[in-house]
Amino acid sequence: MSSTKYVYLFGSHGTEGAAGMKNLLGGKGANLAEMCRLGIPVPPGFTISTEACTAYTTLGRERLLEMIRDEVLAGIRSVEAEMGKRFGDAADPLLLSVRSGARASMPGMMDTILNLGLNDEAVDGLARKAGNERFAWDSYRRFVQMYGDVVMGLKPVSKEEHDPFEVVIDMVKEARGVQLDTELDAADLKELVARFKALIRARIGRDFPVDPWEQLWGAIVAVFDSWNNDRARVYRELNDIPESWGTAVNVQAMVFGNLGDHSATGVAFTRDAGTGEDLFNGEFLVNAQGEDVVAGIRTPQQVSLVGSRRWAELALVSEAERAEHYPSLEELMPELYRQLIEAETTLENHFRDMQDLEFTIQEGRLWMLQTRNGKRTGAAMVRIAMEMLEQGMIDEKTALERVTPDRLNDLLHPVFDPRALAQAKPIARGLPASPGAATGQIVFFADEAETWAQRGRDVILVRQETSPEDLRGMSVAKGILTARGGMTSHAAVVARGMGKCCVSGCGAVHVDLKARTMTVDGTVYAEGDWISLNGSTGEVYYGRIATRDAELSGDFGKLMALTDKYRRLEIRTNADTPEEAAVARKFGATGIGLCRTEHMFFEGDRILAVREMILADGEAGRRKALAKLLPMQRSDFEGLFREMDGLPVTIRLLDPPLHEFVPHDDAGQMTMARDMGVSLGRIKLRVEQLHEFNPMLGHRGCRLGISFPEITEMQARAIFEAALNAKSRGTAVVPEIMVPLVGTIRELDQQAAVIRRVAEQVFAERGEAVHWMLGTMIETPRAALVADSIARSAEFFSFGTNDLTQMTMGFSRDDAGSFLPRYLKLGLYEHDPFRSIDQKGVGQLVEMAVAKGRATRPDIELGVCGEHGGDPASIGFFHRAGLRYVSCSPFRVPIARLAAAQAAIAS
Ligand code: ADP
Ligand code: MG
Ligand code: MG
Repeated sequence: MSSTKYVYLFGSHGTEGAAGMKNLLGGKGANLAEMCRLGIPVPPGFTISTEACTAYTTLGRERLLEMIRDEVLAGIRSVEAEMGKRFGDAADPLLLSVRSGARASMPGMMDTILNLGLNDEAVDGLARKAGNERFAWDSYRRFVQMYGDVVMGLKPVSKEEHDPFEVVIDMVKEARGVQLDTELDAADLKELVARFKALIRARIGRDFPVDPWEQLWGAIVAVFDSWNNDRARVYRELNDIPESWGTAVNVQAMVFGNLGDHSATGVAFTRDAGTGEDLFNGEFLVNAQGEDVVAGIRTPQQVSLVGSRRWAELALVSEAERAEHYPSLEELMPELYRQLIEAETTLENHFRDMQDLEFTIQEGRLWMLQTRNGKRTGAAMVRIAMEMLEQGMIDEKTALERVTPDRLNDLLHPVFDPRALAQAKPIARGLPASPGAATGQIVFFADEAETWAQRGRDVILVRQETSPEDLRGMSVAKGILTARGGMTSHAAVVARGMGKCCVSGCGAVHVDLKARTMTVDGTVYAEGDWISLNGSTGEVYYGRIATRDAELSGDFGKLMALTDKYRRLEIRTNADTPEEAAVARKFGATGIGLCRTEHMFFEGDRILAVREMILADGEAGRRKALAKLLPMQRSDFEGLFREMDGLPVTIRLLDPPLHEFVPHDDAGQMTMARDMGVSLGRIKLRVEQLHEFNPMLGHRGCRLGISFPEITEMQARAIFEAALNAKSRGTAVVPEIMVPLVGTIRELDQQAAVIRRVAEQVFAERGEAVHWMLGTMIETPRAALVADSIARSAEFFSFGTNDLTQMTMGFSRDDAGSFLPRYLKLGLYEHDPFRSIDQKGVGQLVEMAVAKGRATRPDIELGVCGEHGGDPASIGFFHRAGLRYVSCSPFRVPIARLAAAQAAIAS
């Protein structure tokens, strides 16, 4: 025998595990032990550790059984002693459950076997001892079914096939003319057992094992195997659970909720997992076992009377009918309900978190079978954390740590009314591109979305895909649905920035612009028809579904206030319009970290002036076009300064390659030629000239301002004039002018000279000045490498981590879709570097630039304005790197505030 201990007992005769031993015993095993320590009634048993699972994976079945045999034998002896029954005793058998349980809870993902130890003799013993033949055969039937499935592998062989055991059950029920499992009598159940065994023999080619010990070893190994079943693998992938953790196995004495009308089984939550309300709630079934409650075979009853009445109201059940057919446990078994309340109170106070409980009542006696921290919605997370803080159960730091930043998303957007949603009909599913719920009438064109919206209608903009020309239509729509495009498509990125619901890449949707219809699965939907979108799940519904607005005061407001007490990072926002700035301020942004001036170029007539500028032959022509843009830009900036009164506003000079502003299709080019009064050929020629092989590495960023200094001049003038206008109206203004894509200080100095000259001119003209700052983005690897030199001219650095990532990794965000998913699957990268910053690689450049920048200019202002500024893991990194702020899209501001507070608490 090896010296490692693999088996840990729990029960009233002595408990070896504890809640702190989750890594070794799994969550279920550790908490079963903890409950025993608290004096809560738990059927005795033992846990075989996760180390045994790991050993099994490398050494195989025989070696494993050799390693654990003696300890398991001793464990069984101990359970026998406590229960006063013997395992394998045909006259009065001890029956066992064999349950999986990993470190992190993976509900329903792995396998559990109940009633183990039964065979044709023991079933009679059980029946005689309990004085209940039906109960014994019901238990045996369940055991053969579960064991046949989990251990012997009798499962459907194809997607289309029904569960073979359920098929047999349905046949017998039909023959008896009954509907419910509970209506089958002992003889029927006996027949089921015989048929199940025959089925196993026929399909698997082996007999059902009669020896309880053989059953036990088979079940233990099967639970270890279930760690690697498909469901569990997928769940682990989705939840970032390492394969190496393994699962523990819990072997436990059975207690029976199926022993008649004084027995029951159920699940309960110490608070409401949906809303967070501090109300004990749950469901149970009389005369039932284990999974019956969740399986939906019968309608479960509510544990509390309040819950029962609320349920009846929703289910349209009258009080009389409720009381007769669906009474609460509180009414049915008041004493047991009292004991259950006592247990749930003890457990919640002990774990200081909302508990998700399993219990079974055997002939008037309560047993607890599981407790764990319950899963909950984002709204419940916030409410439970803040109420537990108020109730003095947890401290401020713990309250902040209890809320997963990303889950705040659930609260920031409108949601469907749950009752309305229950009646809704889903018609398709796309990508959950931007969260929230939206309902409106279908419109296929962006300009028509505007006219409809002006007439006070709610619209959903449906497009094949969106482009910058659709911006205005997108901004007035309640939601956006596109047939093409991924999570980083134009529609997705823009919608997220606007905090607007969007479902993208919904392949089932076929848009016919001529007919003004969309077809889904053969059904035609016309312009004006109502549809609804769930941007959090990607679901598309036919019809109008009532929505409810986000709730930003109350507990949410308190949580946000608490984040400010702990965080060190400032949270700015990426905003291009006064509307976005206003939303971000409402969410608590402390400035604008990135205003992308080019986003203002697409609106209305502006695009015409922009195109005129691009098309102009010489400087004179460009200046003429720029003169038209100047007042528009100036008024945009005035709007931003007004909204951000007193807070810093970082404005980036023109950045994207010019080809993004010209139309590439014939129709668009024809319109452009007409609008500008030039020939189509000239337009085509210019568009061709603008073509680049690698636009992301081409003529963009400060390279534009260096080629065409008059663009920089116009933008600088618009900023300074706007600042002076705002100042004269009493608004405090702090413009920070940011030069993009710099690689050497000479580029920055060249642009700085232009900007300073304009500043002096404007200030002289107006006889007044404002304080402003000049800085640059650090977004090329070279800029990071020579940051000490660049800091001589830059008063601030803003890390443009999108470009910095793509240039450092050597692949672009827009093209990574064709290979990155496979990379992630193979584990070549741990995560998508465009979502969460690559701390090991790109992060080094950030750290280096921080150090070098500070060496030259100790008070240099440092921030981040890439999408990473809204990612909690990246925010942790930026906190540690010592930045002053992160900047993110308006709707991520609260998430960033919380993540920043958590980062501060962690360090
Ligand atoms: P899961 O992790 O999928 O919830 P469990 O191991 O908790 O699986 O068991 C599934 C069901 O079987 C639960 O409803 C549980 O209450 C029931 N069960 C487990 N062990 C016992 C037992 N010893 N006696 C009675 N019922 C049990
Ligand atoms: Mg369970
Ligand atoms: Mg950039």
